[in-house]
Amino acid sequence: MSFLDKALAEKRIQELRQILNHHNYLYYVLDKPEIPDIEYDKLMRELIDLENQFPELITPDSPTQRIGGEPLAAFERVTHREAMISLADAFNEGDLRDFHRRVTAVVGNEVEYVVELKIDGLAISLTYENGVLVTAATRGDGTVGEDVTQNVKTIKSVPLRINAPSGKMPSLIEVRGEIYIPKEDFKKLNEEREDMELEPFANPRNAAAGSIRQLDPKIAAKRPLSTFIYGIGYVEGIQFETHYQVLEFYKACGFRVNPHIKLFKNFDDVIEYCMSWREKRDLLPYEIDGMVIKVNSLQFQRILGSTAKNPRWAIAYKFPAEQKVSVIEDIIVSVGRTGILTPNAVLKPVNIAGSTVSRATLHNEDYIKEKDIRIGDSVIVQKAGDIIPEVVAVVKEKRTGREKEFKMPKVCPECGSEVIRVPGEAAYRCTGVACPAQIRRSIIHFASRDAMDIRGLGPAVVSLLLSAGLVKDASDIYFLKREDLIPLERMGEKSADNLIKAIQNSKKQPLSRLIYALGIPFIGSKASFLLAEALGSMDKLQTATYDELIKIPEIGSKMAESIITFFKQEQTKKLLTRLKEAGVNMEERRQVEGPKPLENLTFVLTGTLEKYSRKEAKEIIENLGGRVTGSVSKKTDYVVVGKDPGSKYDKAVELGVKIIDENEFDKLIAER
Ligand code: NAD
Repeated sequence: MSFLDKALAEKRIQELRQILNHHNYLYYVLDKPEIPDIEYDKLMRELIDLENQFPELITPDSPTQRIGGEPLAAFERVTHREAMISLADAFNEGDLRDFHRRVTAVVGNEVEYVVELKIDGLAISLTYENGVLVTAATRGDGTVGEDVTQNVKTIKSVPLRINAPSGKMPSLIEVRGEIYIPKEDFKKLNEEREDMELEPFANPRNAAAGSIRQLDPKIAAKRPLSTFIYGIGYVEGIQFETHYQVLEFYKACGFRVNPHIKLFKNFDDVIEYCMSWREKRDLLPYEIDGMVIKVNSLQFQRILGSTAKNPRWAIAYKFPAEQKVSVIEDIIVSVGRTGILTPNAVLKPVNIAGSTVSRATLHNEDYIKEKDIRIGDSVIVQKAGDIIPEVVAVVKEKRTGREKEFKMPKVCPECGSEVIRVPGEAAYRCTGVACPAQIRRSIIHFASRDAMDIRGLGPAVVSLLLSAGLVKDASDIYFLKREDLIPLERMGEKSADNLIKAIQNSKKQPLSRLIYALGIPFIGSKASFLLAEALGSMDKLQTATYDELIKIPEIGSKMAESIITFFKQEQTKKLLTRLKEAGVNMEERRQVEGPKPLENLTFVLTGTLEKYSRKEAKEIIENLGGRVTGSVSKKTDYVVVGKDPGSKYDKAVELGVKIIDENEFDKLIAER
């Protein structure tokens, strides 16, 4: 191998790591992937192959060595008692047979396998102490995940208390499984989002992850989440011999276990079963992206062990992407809320994975140029487990010479203003301050459920208000009167009253929602929450410097620059002045400054409080300078106990920590 080969490999390795890290961030942290999984897997494979050729170039921070993403700072962290590792991939029969060879080389030929469907959701770890659910955590980086207990408790299929067969109650168990959204519900959720002109979720996995990682459990409660349980982490007080026994135990305890799990002795049957689901997957009411094959004997699993990233006793067989050929009849351009122009292919309708596809995203001009996509081209369209179809390649052999090249319009198709390409970005933007498409979308976004949540102010009503000249930007809605609304089409007195009431009520929404509602490019609901937490008021956000912004956890340079640019615009200044005039809340509810009587005191909350949600109690304590932690130790000053307390109560008794009930808690905060 020449020096040149190695130098070239090193360069490509660096490049691939950068690309994969970028996509990992979009996928795991923002829940917003930009490329299909299949393409991600291809890049990852290339990196693995290069690193196998040049093992001396492997570094601990390479994406091949890491699991998932960093946990978000906005959630409390949970350290898994036993790591939640990922699975190695197999893409064909050969890869599967290699896996079997590796297994039998270590444990001999007498090996049984459990084959399960690979549910396309997000992994969750549920910790039960003496049968009571105490924590639900995401996988995070495999060692430390995010505490999403409150959100998971809203999922009906997760038992809050397990009903173990008598004498079989584990004192402690980490129950592992997948949270997912069924196909039909996913479709409905995306239709709802499209009605609200919100960006649809790329696939059910991202929708589930985005729902579970909401900071407000009310949003998670509204999302149609379900579970399948398939694994076990740390356990005390009960022993199992096989994986299949574990699954039987889960079923008996009341967990949802997938009915298509099967036990095999012969590896040819394993392969046949995996392949049979490639076709049948469309019939399932939920998405699967492959099959998981696990060694049944837990003793064999221990002998086989794990690498840092994957167990050696299991493998994921990934289904190939579903692709079809169609013809691009036209390329049309839509204008988004932030003025970005997106080219979309209008396709000759084609059936892919059980649904008719007639549109596909072309992302941006660079994508079209790179793939040399022209109007009239025959193209390969793909749905790779994910829902938004993509044009992946042109079938050049089918070209007739009559195909037309596509050019991005120089003026906005909605308002005729000049279109510019933003330096450093692939996107083109409409410069029109008064572009009706942007205004319409920005008001719809402002009123949407995750923003100011104004019921009754959907796309149709916004269009009516705009065409009647009643609103010019989002602030105008706060000055609407019932007399303005009643004459509008299909708007009776009752709906007008309800709408006015909903608009007025929205003035009290927390600052984080208002920030999100403004629609600042790159600032989603999580970033808005973090900004509101860190800065406490709209004034502070408006005047924050770049340096102040990037100090806030998870706020990167692109976001900081976007915030600064947004608040510099005259249009924004006008909008905020009017919103203030209307009396819209501009402050984070918590007192940022003021006396800190609970300073240096540490609290733990357990059980259900009557007057406060966990989040509210936590806010009160933190506003008064105290700290709330997730587990009881000798350093804890108070354990606040509500109804049905968990094991934290017992721990407090054991350690002699002061225990107070809700009334005593009220007194404590009133005294201070
Ligand atoms: P994975 O999806 O390859 O497999 C592991 C996961 O499978 C587990 O964590 C669990 O959540 C899930 N699973 C479902 N059913 C299961 C069952 N019956 N038993 C055990 N596990 C089951 O690994 P990963 O680390 O979660 O994700 C990596 C994958 O994510 C990549 O292969 C890629 O497809 C995708 N990804 C895509 C992008 C992108 O930009 N499109 C970015 C990062 C990752």
